[in-house]
Amino acid sequence: MILAKHSSYRGRIAPSPTGYLHLGHARTFWTAQERARAAGGVLVLRNENLDRARSKPEFVSAMIEDLRWFGFEWQEGPHVGGPFGPYNQSERYSIYREALKKLERGGSIYPCICSRKDLQAATRAPHAEDDNEPIYPGTCRELTPSQTVNRKFCWRFRVSDGETIAFTDGNLGPQQFGAGKDFGDFVVWRTDDVPAYQLACVVDDAAMQITEVVRGADLLVSTARQLLLYRAMGLPVPEFYHCPLVTDEAGVRLSKRHDPLSLRRLRECGQFPAALRGAW
Ligand SMILES: [Zn+2]
Repeated sequence: MILAKHSSYRGRIAPSPTGYLHLGHARTFWTAQERARAAGGVLVLRNENLDRARSKPEFVSAMIEDLRWFGFEWQEGPHVGGPFGPYNQSERYSIYREALKKLERGGSIYPCICSRKDLQAATRAPHAEDDNEPIYPGTCRELTPSQTVNRKFCWRFRVSDGETIAFTDGNLGPQQFGAGKDFGDFVVWRTDDVPAYQLACVVDDAAMQITEVVRGADLLVSTARQLLLYRAMGLPVPEFYHCPLVTDEAGVRLSKRHDPLSLRRLRECGQFPAALRGAW
């Protein structure tokens, strides 16, 4: 009997070109690659460049170069193509627009005219750790259409207050979050007419038929939000596998500000990827 070698596993790595990738990104992405390899599946590279102000073309080329240097190999992505492209989020705007319309028709979202100042005054901190998005108090839930005329607004997803969102993480086990307690009505479309991370991520993971999402544990609460979006749009839900976050020697979570630990700097200093991975 001949066993088929291909599998239906589809994983992805989804960096934002807003700075140089650091060792923390590499570690999470490496887990994603290893899991795709172990399953005999496909790894997709998605360029999350929706933030027009912060995304820079030079960071895209640096990202690709640094990923290749580190040993990443993806089968679908911006330069290699594939059946589920385009793989640059900036080229997928119309797909997100469609999704927004669908949510609007379904009554899952509402326009919010709150200014940054209003939000600062009205929001409260979430209970969930690792989530720095304040809980929106629902001020604009009952706005009438006339109140948004000539006003700048974003679109928010109306969460089902009091509902418990539970899922089993492939790495961290059972998780649960309370809608309205751990997170509130969240933005799906920004005031500057850009799809928010939550919407773009769900739409793309579904459209690219991703079967498992591997990402940092700081996004656990976002997974709860996204599960509500999957449900509202009637999309198939992938598996989730969240990785512990990498911290520096002082215990501070790595960010793009940690220049000495950027892949670029490590390479310039003569470090070898295999040795860096060996230290994990
Ligand atoms: Zn509002």
